Amino acid sequence: MGAMDRHHSPGTPVAVLTTQPLDRTLDYLAPEGGVEDGAFVEVPLGPRLILGVVWGPAEGDWPVEKLRRVSRVLDVTPMTEGMRDFVTRAAAYTLTPLTTMVRLAMRVPGLGDKPGKRVLYALGDGAPDRMTPAREQVLAVLEERRDDLFGASELAELAGVSTGVVKGLVASGAVAERRVERDADFPPLDAVRPGKKLACDQAQAASALRAALAQPGYGTTLLKGVTGSGKTEVYLEAVAECLARGRQALVLLPEIALTAEFLTRVEARFGARPAEWHSGVTQAERRRCWRKVAEGQARLVVGARSSLFLPFPNLGLVVVDEEHDTSYKQEDGVLYSARDMAVLRASCEGAQVVLASATPSLESWANAESGKYRRLDLTTRFGDAVLPRLRAIDMRNEDLPGGRWVSPTLRGAITQRIEAGEQSLIFLNRRGYAPVTLCRACGQQVACHQCDARMVEHRFLKRLMCHQCGETAPLPQACPSCGVEGKMAPVGPGVERMAEEVTELFPEARVAVLSSDLFGSARALKAKVEDIANGGADIVVGTQLVAKGHNFPLLTLVGVIDADLGLQGSDLRAAERTFQLMRQVSGRAGRADRPGEALLQTFQPEHPVMRAILSGDEEAFWAEEAAQRRAAGVPPYGRMAGIVISDPSSQVAFDLGNALARRAAMLDQIGAEVFGPAPAPIARIRGRHRVRLLVKAPRQAPLQSAISAWVAAVDVPRSARLSVDIDPQSFL
Ligand code: ADP
Ligand code: ZN
Repeated sequence: MGAMDRHHSPGTPVAVLTTQPLDRTLDYLAPEGGVEDGAFVEVPLGPRLILGVVWGPAEGDWPVEKLRRVSRVLDVTPMTEGMRDFVTRAAAYTLTPLTTMVRLAMRVPGLGDKPGKRVLYALGDGAPDRMTPAREQVLAVLEERRDDLFGASELAELAGVSTGVVKGLVASGAVAERRVERDADFPPLDAVRPGKKLACDQAQAASALRAALAQPGYGTTLLKGVTGSGKTEVYLEAVAECLARGRQALVLLPEIALTAEFLTRVEARFGARPAEWHSGVTQAERRRCWRKVAEGQARLVVGARSSLFLPFPNLGLVVVDEEHDTSYKQEDGVLYSARDMAVLRASCEGAQVVLASATPSLESWANAESGKYRRLDLTTRFGDAVLPRLRAIDMRNEDLPGGRWVSPTLRGAITQRIEAGEQSLIFLNRRGYAPVTLCRACGQQVACHQCDARMVEHRFLKRLMCHQCGETAPLPQACPSCGVEGKMAPVGPGVERMAEEVTELFPEARVAVLSSDLFGSARALKAKVEDIANGGADIVVGTQLVAKGHNFPLLTLVGVIDADLGLQGSDLRAAERTFQLMRQVSGRAGRADRPGEALLQTFQPEHPVMRAILSGDEEAFWAEEAAQRRAAGVPPYGRMAGIVISDPSSQVAFDLGNALARRAAMLDQIGAEVFGPAPAPIARIRGRHRVRLLVKAPRQAPLQSAISAWVAAVDVPRSARLSVDIDPQSFL
């Protein structure tokens, strides 16, 4: 790519990268008035018009008279050179076709819209002339989201009705029509107004970040600090510096549920709310965000991982909060790690990255050790809050009847908290009522008919659910295997069952359950979280959802039901994940002025990971874990890629896997080893059999180019799918 944006005069051939599934650009003639590199355009393809981006001078050697002309240059800011560079490098890194990658950068509602008025819908003050169930659904959506404006088809889809129903409600005024001329500017953020007065280590970290932003160019900082140490306040100072320098900032959060609290803090700090980009915002808002970001007007965006593909012309800072969080890995479609892509994007833009976490990933820890990243530590909790005391409950010594999970020791601790007017959290990382439903007559478990997975009972939904494909089924009266009635029994605990046990043990206590599947909307979840924070519950029973950054000031006890749960997997990160999760969860206790305690129920208190958690000696844990990974040559000290092949026929999937394995010698030259094919740990999903190969290579090996040549050497049958996952996080 040239150093300067190139203008192509009318009639010269240009290459256009479209979102069509092709492995190349298409050539067109520049339209009247010419066109620039990066311009978003509409071009004819066969009888249709499709969208694309001008990628440079034409690449083919087609005769000019055969080329068609660009139909229209869209009324949006062209894609910057930094963004084109990012998309190109991200595609090469993840072995994704460039056309697929650029689609992520064009995924915005109304990109191709002609300028002019748009019609959006909101709740009106009129009453409908007559009520139908469909109309009721439309009004319910609008009631729930009073601040939002919707396009007709978006609203119809959310309500599960046709657009006719939406338009039918306009005449009576029950639904109001708004004609919108152009997207409104975001309110200005006041970057110079002072933030909270920082504690000493916060102030040091903040000034280091401010200094980094004062330097031109890219750099990454790992901001490590226990939960409650005030990392957010620190990186908001970096945001302030970035804004004051006239550049744009992006803050990535792992969960939409966390944005509400964060937005409030931003508003308190900068006097206005930032732009938001995630699945919970309307299409009209997303369109506004994308365009205002491209214009440079939206200065701060809070978003989910896909916000890395927003068209910032002047990006100065990307913050990845809770950087260790596994939800940053996109596991569907384009497989990418938002943490790694944040670093890549920043390096293309000459921006700074802040990776914030109480329990960093081993990757980031190792990058800080080796000096690739700067590291800043906050060692104490803000104010007087102290870290909770951690203790193991050795379950081998506890007297518990079968089908019960709260040990007498834990029960005693909860009783004390209730008497003191404090809150307890019971943590179990398993959704639903029971992980297994078993027939007591024949011993068979209820399995999903499309997946190699057991059906999980969800009592709240009154159904069984497959956590792989989402398929649900009514709870059977009779056993699907032997037909005997009334013998189906739940085995093992899920959070819903824990809530039942806790309610029985503490009939007077107010029990709240927090699990991602129990809330219809982010708003409902937020309301519940606020209610708990304000003391609306005595005991909270929760999954992983509660481990992520919510503030519960009255909480002083965390009881982990099964601290061994994460150690059982064969995942290379099992120890790291358990360590992070246990520390995150126990960090929920004692955030305000009351000291907290975390009790971990375990059958293996002498397990090295459990000992490291209990001792609180993090650096020792990381050093030990790093030594083991280095010895094994696995990430971050070696490279890995997963190849997953799926097909309706297990034979076809295995044949393809074997064909790859026979050509494993192609990877010898980069020093890589191939393992497999083997059935993937979940050997069947949605009726497709899955076979997996793993590639392990030395750290400096050119893994991507070797793998793409290797994969290109086999023929993939039409029915089969082959996906390559560079740096796999999940080994399912
Ligand atoms: P972390 O992000 O490390 O978990 P937070 O930034 O959320 O920590 O801080 C924890 C709590 O302490 C929050 O309620 C925050 O408002 C408060 N806090 C942090 N730093 C300060 C400060 N310098 N002055 C006043 N309150 C602070
Ligand atoms: Zn299933």
